Amino acid sequence: FGAELEGQVAIVTGASSGIGEATAQSLASRGASVVLAARREDQLEELASKIEDEDGDALVVPTDVTDDEDIDNLVESTTDKYGRIDILVNNAGYMPLTHIADADRETLQTTIDVNLRGLITLTHAVIPTMLEQESGHIVNISSVAGRFLMANSSHYNAAKAGVKMFGDALRLDVAAEGIRVATIEPGSVATELMEDIPDEELKQEIEEYGASMRPLRPKDIARTITFVATQPDHVDINEVLIRPLDQV
Ligand code: NDP
Repeated sequence: FGAELEGQVAIVTGASSGIGEATAQSLASRGASVVLAARREDQLEELASKIEDEDGDALVVPTDVTDDEDIDNLVESTTDKYGRIDILVNNAGYMPLTHIADADRETLQTTIDVNLRGLITLTHAVIPTMLEQESGHIVNISSVAGRFLMANSSHYNAAKAGVKMFGDALRLDVAAEGIRVATIEPGSVATELMEDIPDEELKQEIEEYGASMRPLRPKDIARTITFVATQPDHVDINEVLIRPLDQV
C-alpha cells in the first residue's frame, strides 16, 4: 500500500470493534493519524498498540457519541494534538431491532441518539475546522436499512435513512467549501452488532439469516471506506451500497 493519507488526521467513531476497528487500521496503514473514539477504552488502547506496533499513529479518546461534552472533548483533543481534521468516519451504531410494541422508549431514543443525533452533533462539531482548512471528508455509515425496509426495524430504518438524507443535504451546504460527504450502506457484515437485539427469538432469526450467506467482513467495508477516502480532491464518491453476493 502507498501512504496516500500521510499527514492526514482521521477520527473514527465506533473504533472499538467491527467495521470501525478495521477502518482505523486500514486508514492508519495508508499513513493517516487515527483518533479512536468509542466507549470501551480497553479495546481502543489495544487497537492503538496494534497500530503503533505497525509504525502507525493513533490517539485514544474515550467517547460516548450521545454525550455532547464527549463530542466536544473528542474534537478538542484531536485539534489540540494534530491541529487539523481531514476525515471523519461516523461509524458508531446501535441496532436493537424489535417490534415497536415491544420496545421501551429508552431503546427507541438511544437508537436515534447513537445512529443519527450523535452523527449530526459530531459533524457539526468538526465542520468549523474543516471550513477553516477548506477541505475535509465526512464518511457516514448508513446501512441497507437506510434504503430497504425490514420488519421489526422501524426505529433503525428511520435512523439509517436519516443518515443518508443528512449526508446528501449536507453536501449541498459544504461541497463549495471543499468538503466531501459520502454515505456507505453495508449489507450483512459479521460483527457484534446483532448482540444488541433484545428479543432472543428475533436475534436467533437474524443470526440464522446472516449464517445463510457468506457475510461481508469488517475488512471489506474498511477497504471500501479507504477507497473513498483516498480519491483525489475533486472526486466525491457520494454513496456506496455494498452487500454480500448472496444477499439479494
Ligand atoms: P459493532 O457492534 O462491532 O460496532 C459498533 C460500534 O459502535 C462499537 O465500536 C461501539 O463501541 C460503538 N458504539 C455504540 N454505541 C456507542 C456510543 N453511544 N458512543 C460511541 N460509540 C458507540 O458493529 P458494526 O461494526 O457492524 O457497526 C458499525 C456500523 O456499521 C454501525 O453504524 C452499524 O449500524 C453499521 N452497519 C452494520 C451492519 C452489519 O451487518 N454489521 C450492516 C449495515 C450497517 P462501544 O460499545 O465501545 O462504545
